[in-house]
Amino acid sequence: MNNVSAVYVHIPFCVKKCPYCSFAVAVNQNNRQEEYLTALEKEAGRYSGKISTLYIGGGTPSCLSSSGIERLMSILKRSFDFRPGAEITIEVNPESISPDKARILKVAGVNRVSMGVQSLNNGILELLGRPHRRQDVLDAFNLLRSAGFDNINLDFIYGLPGQAVSEVINDLEQLLLLGSEHCSLYALNVEPKSLFYARRMEVDQDAQGELYAGMVRRMAAAGVIQYEVSNFARPGYESRHNINTWEGGEYIGLGMAAHSHAAGERFWNADTLPDYLTRMRESGSARTGGERLPAEDKLTEVFLFGLRMNKGVDLEELEKKAGVRLSDAKKEMIESFIEMRLLKEYNGRVCATPRGVLLLDEISARII
Ligand code: SF4
Repeated sequence: MNNVSAVYVHIPFCVKKCPYCSFAVAVNQNNRQEEYLTALEKEAGRYSGKISTLYIGGGTPSCLSSSGIERLMSILKRSFDFRPGAEITIEVNPESISPDKARILKVAGVNRVSMGVQSLNNGILELLGRPHRRQDVLDAFNLLRSAGFDNINLDFIYGLPGQAVSEVINDLEQLLLLGSEHCSLYALNVEPKSLFYARRMEVDQDAQGELYAGMVRRMAAAGVIQYEVSNFARPGYESRHNINTWEGGEYIGLGMAAHSHAAGERFWNADTLPDYLTRMRESGSARTGGERLPAEDKLTEVFLFGLRMNKGVDLEELEKKAGVRLSDAKKEMIESFIEMRLLKEYNGRVCATPRGVLLLDEISARII
């Protein structure tokens, strides 16, 4: 495939498994990093293209050794051409980024860093089972700034059982003091494959809605503009890679459990490290499944993703692009949500209202 313009690379290694996490990760397997990079090199070699956005996520990409990071970046540079101004993002965690790794990333052209902070309150970090503490975040942030990174996202988690609005806003204030260009605020979700789920932890979604409303107001007051349900940026610092995905754009995913959307098809890789490595070694492909969505299903999906963005969706334009129309039944459902003031029409676009944003999962389930 040679017309790739957006690439996601999954680095599955983590120091430990956080109790809320349901991602595809590999814990205590750092001894397989070299083998993994060799497999990635083989996989990347199947593609070429002029890249507009590259996103290296995980897992914890900063768990790679310094030489591993150097090798990864050189594999990607050899496999793809990068357009001038291409957005190159990497996820890091405070406990595993170092001055040496930050320098290598900067020299390799990485221009956006996303750090998994989650909280600046040591008690919350302890509850979330994170290996870092508040001081590690401050040190890592300063280290990234000193290395020259001027586009940093900070991930934040809210809505633990019993968490008060004042506690969350105070935590958020600390995060805002750092002055990052982008923040992602995620409600704690108890995912079926997580340890919290096994422990039967329950979160109160009404309370989370209240926290969310307070945080959205605080972010606006700080000039960090909301552009998606969970994402806030200073003007011009929105994540181009994620916007491409939310707008239904195509991308290639490399690595364990990575998903791709290319040439009208969705396909995915083996989701455990041994399976991914064996398949890459034996056949040069780790693909374990794929599907081609019917045009109307794809249109519905892009419409629903679009509702997550503040600018909403121009349904007419989407229909023209897709060459199909949403069914009358789906349009009636959208109308009924507009009457209920959960959705609204604005400048020819359909958007979620502040109340609708809190109910987007339910709205989506009804429209599907
Ligand atoms: S939350 Fe992040 S750091 Fe924790 S196990 Fe999951 S991917 Fe790894």
